[in-house]
Amino acid sequence: VMASVAHLQEEKLRLQEELLGLREKLADRENDELSRSLQLQGQVEALKAKLLEQAQEISRLRSEVGGTDVEKHRDLLAAENECLRQEIKVCEGELQELRRQQQEPCRDCAHLQENTELRERLCQLQQEAEETRARLAELDLEVQQKTNRLAEVELRLKDSLAERAEEEERLSRRLRDSQETIANLKSQPQQIKYIIKTVEVESAKAKQALCESQSRNQYLQEQVGMQRQVLKEMEQQLQSSQKTVAQLRAQIMMYEAELERAHGQMLEEMQAIEEEKNHAIEEAFSRAQVEMKAVHENLAGVRTNLLTLQPALRTLTHDYNSLKRQVRDFPLLLQEALRNARAEIGQAIEEVHSTNRELLRKYRRELQLRKKCHNELVRLKGNIRVFGRVRPITKEDGEGPEAANAVTFDANDDAVLHLLHKGKQVSFELDKVFPPQASQEEVFQEVQALVTSCIDGYNVCIFAYGQTGAGKTYTMEGTPANPGINQRALQLLFSEVRGKAADWDYAISVSAAEIYNETLRDLLGKEPQEKLEIKLCPDGSGQLYVPGLTEFPVQSVEDINKVFEYGHVNRVTECTNLNEHSSRSHALLIVTVRGLDRSTGLRTTGKLNLVDLAGSERVGRSGAEGSRLREAQHINKSLSALGDVIYALRSRQGHVPFRNSKLTYLLQDSLSGDSKTLMMVQVSPAEKNTSETLCSLKFAERVRSVELGPGSRRAELGSWPSQEQLEGDTPGTPGPSGRGHSSPSPGQLSGRAASIRRKLQTSG
Ligand code: ADP
Ligand code: MG
Repeated sequence: VMASVAHLQEEKLRLQEELLGLREKLADRENDELSRSLQLQGQVEALKAKLLEQAQEISRLRSEVGGTDVEKHRDLLAAENECLRQEIKVCEGELQELRRQQQEPCRDCAHLQENTELRERLCQLQQEAEETRARLAELDLEVQQKTNRLAEVELRLKDSLAERAEEEERLSRRLRDSQETIANLKSQPQQIKYIIKTVEVESAKAKQALCESQSRNQYLQEQVGMQRQVLKEMEQQLQSSQKTVAQLRAQIMMYEAELERAHGQMLEEMQAIEEEKNHAIEEAFSRAQVEMKAVHENLAGVRTNLLTLQPALRTLTHDYNSLKRQVRDFPLLLQEALRNARAEIGQAIEEVHSTNRELLRKYRRELQLRKKCHNELVRLKGNIRVFGRVRPITKEDGEGPEAANAVTFDANDDAVLHLLHKGKQVSFELDKVFPPQASQEEVFQEVQALVTSCIDGYNVCIFAYGQTGAGKTYTMEGTPANPGINQRALQLLFSEVRGKAADWDYAISVSAAEIYNETLRDLLGKEPQEKLEIKLCPDGSGQLYVPGLTEFPVQSVEDINKVFEYGHVNRVTECTNLNEHSSRSHALLIVTVRGLDRSTGLRTTGKLNLVDLAGSERVGRSGAEGSRLREAQHINKSLSALGDVIYALRSRQGHVPFRNSKLTYLLQDSLSGDSKTLMMVQVSPAEKNTSETLCSLKFAERVRSVELGPGSRRAELGSWPSQEQLEGDTPGTPGPSGRGHSSPSPGQLSGRAASIRRKLQTSG
């Protein structure tokens, strides 16, 4: 509706503009007409002047001719003239009125009215023109009458002339008679003498009379001549006035014709304008009608909508009222409900309390039991844990059957893992297995207890073991967005130390080292290429130390990041291919936590060793030569030595071969005694890596499966299988150790140890 109203308003504006244009046109035309009427007026004025002149002339003539009728006529004509003048004045007034009205601003809807008024005025004007014409006719008639009268006057004049002629004739006849008589008398001398005498007397009298009559005659003749002249003049005047009248009539006719033409033109124009106007109005009207129709339809739609909405509104109001009622009643109900609920809750709390007390009692008992069990377990297992972590299949694994997944898990046991190798499924049991989807966070949660024990003065080792590409570095270092154990451990240490800051002073320092080809290098030192030596403390404590190994004190995550970056840069500048190099060297991050209990003065020192081991893959078999072969041999040796040491530690052998490799020698402190060790065995799930995966998992299981019975603690369980032996597809028959450990004869084993050995053999 709004849109259509706007449209209508636009239309209205357009129409108003049109109307304005039309009005302008009308004004133009009227101006034209005005000028024409002015012209006409001028002409009328001129005519009037001429008329006046004529009237004057006529009056002059009349005065000359004499006679009251003519004067009356003149007066009449003058009066009529006056009348006509007044009428012209009225016409002028009306014309002015018209003009004034046209100049007035047009009001809405006044157009039609104006039009009708104009038409009425036109009619009036026409009527007046008619009347004027009638009056003109009358005037003509009068002129005719006047000429008639003039003719009469002429006739009369002729009559009087004829009379005079007759009298003259009579007089001349008398004259002739008297002359004849005179002649007769002369012929009769006596008588005649007398007579003559008498006649002479008489003729003197007659002569006198004759003279008189002759003079009179002359006078009359003069008069007649004068009269004739006057008449002639009058006739001439009449003729000229008639001519002027005819001219005037012709002019009047001309003016009338012109007037009529102008009138006709005006009428035509008016008609045209009117038609235009009517047309525009009709168009606008039809458009408006159409729009109105649309608006009406809309309105009808809205009306129907309203009709349908009304019931909805009714139901809504009803609902609203009922809701209002409910809201009014709600507080009461709520209070009631709250009271009830409170009572119920109180009761429930009471019940829960009693159950809780009971549970707490039970829980404490259980806790004691668990602690006992845990202690027993720790005693049994030693402080060595073995975890497995399977990385996800990555793009680097490629596509096709080679990259197929070969590792599956047990839904109910998070310590079991199945490997499909050469069509056979082999199962392994570790302390815990992390599937590919396990996050860094989840992995760290499992090791954080180890990390925190460092604060209590324990030494801790966390190793990442596995073939290159199995995820060792990912687990230890991680990515900047998803850091691994190293950074998380230091963060945890910082927060723990902060938590204990009330009683303890702690200092945390960090060292980073690398073992490549059995040489130890300081990654944070100024000269990273320098070879470091491991030495016995000269204080006789039996402790080991590395002279020249840089130790950075750290207090915040920013410090750690700086240290890591520095170590990384050192490692990169020292080798040509970091990836290859890092896969063939052991990277160690050694965190030392030194604590002082301010109240007791007690000092503790804990070491956290985070080791990213070299790749465990079997390079030797692929016929490597030169430096590559040397690298492989060194890696092989050190990993075997690590396995030996862990094995010896777990089986609590008297002799632990720490000195067999730089790594084990360096970590001696952190592997023996109360130390805690975690071996994170990394495996790749890809089909193509299954034989390496199998080796790694065997290594893991063997480390873990060394169980110690109370009586076999100190028993010598024989040597740890070498890396080469691990490679065998049918392991379990460890060959003779090539690393100086004599394989014990079965007779040396206790019954329990023998059973473990058997287990070891079959587990392969
Ligand atoms: P390694 O150090 O054993 O040679 P890396 O840690 O370099 O192996 O891992 C090899 C690749 O696999 C890297 O691209 C790494 O990001 C990726 N990767 C390893 N473990 C995971 C994991 N748990 N989740 C996601 N990506 C992993
Ligand atoms: Mg790596």
